Formats: sequence, C-alpha cells, structure tokens
Amino acid sequence: MFSYALSEPDAGSDAAGMKTRAVRDGDFWVLNGVKRWITNAGVSEYYTVMAVTDPDKRSKGISAFVVEKGDEGVSFGAPEKKLGIKGSPTREVYLDNVRIPASRMIGAEGTGFATAMKTLDHTRVTIAAQAIGIAQGALDYAKGYVKERKQFGKPIADFQGVQFMLADMAMKLEAARQLTYAAAAKSERVDSDLTFFGAAAKCFASDVAMEVTTDAVQLLGGYGYTRDYPVERMMRDAKITQIYEGTNQVQRIVMARNLP
Ligand SMILES: Cc1cc2nc3c(=O)[nH]c(=O)nc-3n(C[C@H](O)[C@H](O)[C@H](O)COP(=O)(O)OP(=O)(O)OC[C@H]3O[C@@H](n4cnc5c(N)ncnc54)[C@H](O)[C@@H]3O)c2cc1C
Repeated sequence: MFSYALSEPDAGSDAAGMKTRAVRDGDFWVLNGVKRWITNAGVSEYYTVMAVTDPDKRSKGISAFVVEKGDEGVSFGAPEKKLGIKGSPTREVYLDNVRIPASRMIGAEGTGFATAMKTLDHTRVTIAAQAIGIAQGALDYAKGYVKERKQFGKPIADFQGVQFMLADMAMKLEAARQLTYAAAAKSERVDSDLTFFGAAAKCFASDVAMEVTTDAVQLLGGYGYTRDYPVERMMRDAKITQIYEGTNQVQRIVMARNLP
C-alpha cells in the first residue's frame, strides 16, 4: 500500500506551510522532517511524501517523492488514540536524513503541491462515499429499530415526529449520494469542474453523515448512546469525514474559489 504524507504538526489546513525539507545531493535527495496524521503509516510499504525543495517559492517550491518503509532513517510514531475509525491506524512518520535516489521524485521539481491538490480532487470523492456508507448504515439500523421499539403501546415508528426524522435523514442521504455520483463521474472523466464537485461532494456528504448518524443515535434513545448498539460508533466514525482530506471549512474555501 501507499500512504499519503502531506500534513505536518504545524501544517494542516495550510499544507503549503510545511517544513519537511528535501536537499539535493548529487544523484540523491536527502529528506528531513515530520509528517503527522498519516493513515496506514507503519503498515504501508510506500509513502508519497511532499517536501520543500525550494523554500523561497512556497507552494511552487514543494516536490513529491516516493519514500519506502525500509529506507534508512524512516520511523513511525505511536498510534494516535482517536475518537473513531479505530480500524485505520494513524501515526507520525519521521524522516531523519533519508537518502533516496533522484529517480524517486514524482514529476518535475516544484510540482509536488499541484500534484497533491489534484490528487485531493479525486480522493475527496472517496471520502464522500465513505460518509454515505456510514450514514446509510445508521439509517438502516434506525429504520429497523423504530419498528421494534414500543412506547405508549405502539411501535415508535407510528409517531409522526419519528417518521419526519427518518424522512429527512433519507432525503439528505439521497441528495448526498446523487452529488457524489455526479462527482465520481467527473473524477473518471477528469472534467474541468471536478475541483468544485469533489469539494462539494465531500463537504455535503460528510455534513449529512454527521447529521444522520446523530439522528440515528437520537432515534435509539438511551440505547443509542451505548456501545451495545452500532450507531454510536457510526456517529464517531462520521466525524472524521468532516475533518480529513481538508476540513469542511477548507472545502468551502475551495468551492468559493472554483464556483461553477
Ligand atoms: C484520523 C486522521 C487521518 C488523517 N490522514 C491523513 C493522511 O493520510 N495524510 C495526510 O497528509 N493527512 C492526514 N490527516 C490530516 C488532516 O487532513 C488534517 O488534520 C486536516 O487537514 C486539518 O488540519 P489540522 O488538523 O492541522 O487542523 P487546522 O488546520 O489546525 O485547523 C483547525 C481548525 O481551524 C479551521 N481553519 C483553518 N484554516 C482556516 C481558514 N482559512 N478558514 C476557516 N477555518 C480554518 C479548520 O477548518 C479547523 O476547524 C489525517 C487526520 C486525521 C485526524
């Protein structure tokens, strides 16, 4: 597997403010720095690492490299203790004088940040899909539960207040799904408006997933709040989709800059 190493302890939303440095040494590059929050770090064999090759040029002075797990000077931090997605390991990657052949640069020098942003246009669609899967799971579970659970002598599904909640959940989820399919088609075709659609799909679907999973917990009442039922986990897992691959504030910045 490949991990994607863009973020750093002091460079998250402002990824171009990264400090990881790559310095040319003959036919080699020598990398030093810390990458933070790297999904599958320690598990992946390969790492796409963004590093500064020209500190005077900010985003145009960043290049992309392939670093291998076994390269001398590569090590990993302790697994992060997270709210959710606990099945997905997240660790820091330390680069301590990692000397790699110049052929391991991806594309031309100085194009790494542009490559990273173009990659996100596509991968954000997959986060939207992840959000939809989580939300669908929560809706399906809540739909079944309200038919079984009885209060006031009848299934809670008979109450209009509950029906309206389920209708809203299904409506928002379907809207998110259609936007994600539209963005996925644009990703396949590499359409010129993909940047807007990738950000919009990720932002909308993850906000919907947060709402739908929170409402699913609500529909299960006190039982929803316990680990005996799956919806609290879905609520915790939904939260990350609003944060990674760029927070939803960042998605709104991207959309505003690329209005259709
Ligand atoms: C579990 C997990 C897995 C991850 N996996 C990866 C990975 O594999 N590879 C990788 O490179 N990164 C990964 N990340 C990093 C992730 O993309 C960043 O956490 C994210 O981009 C936010 O950066 P930050 O955490 O530094 O928050 P900050 O940038 O410090 O943001 C803090 C808050 O300020 C807001 N904010 C910042 N700037 C603005 C602005 N201009 N306008 C409005 N609001 C703003 C943010 O929206 C947020 O609410 C992962 C993170 C997590 C938690």
